[in-house]
Amino acid sequence: MHFIKMNDCIFCKIINRQIPSEIVYEDDDFLAFLDIHPQSPGHVQVIPKKHFRWVWDVPNAGEYFEAARKIALAQKSSFETDFIISKIVGDEVAHAHIWVFPNDRVKGDKNDLKGNAEKIRSALKSLSTS
Ligand SMILES: [Zn+2]
Repeated sequence: MHFIKMNDCIFCKIINRQIPSEIVYEDDDFLAFLDIHPQSPGHVQVIPKKHFRWVWDVPNAGEYFEAARKIALAQKSSFETDFIISKIVGDEVAHAHIWVFPNDRVKGDKNDLKGNAEKIRSALKSLSTS
């Protein structure tokens, strides 16, 4: 199996702002950004800022899940649905990631990354102040 070095890791490059992305959430340990090949409007990847190969390698997995929950709640209100899907697979990119995305029956253009990111950011803002 080919071993991917951290400097070749596309998600580490997103964390280090070497690759531009629509970041919707960031704290000390985790980052969330829009997937560039979205399954549905507002499809987010939630990743640890430290390079771990698998989600189950992340020691503070509880906090990781809390971060994913924030994204899911923001998507619920942004895209007016209760049906938020999350997936942990891990073979697409060799850096731990949780997919969090609304079901594909929600309204909106999934390729409008900027607009969908803006919706999620503003929902996160109102969730944190309510
Ligand atoms: Zn990485």
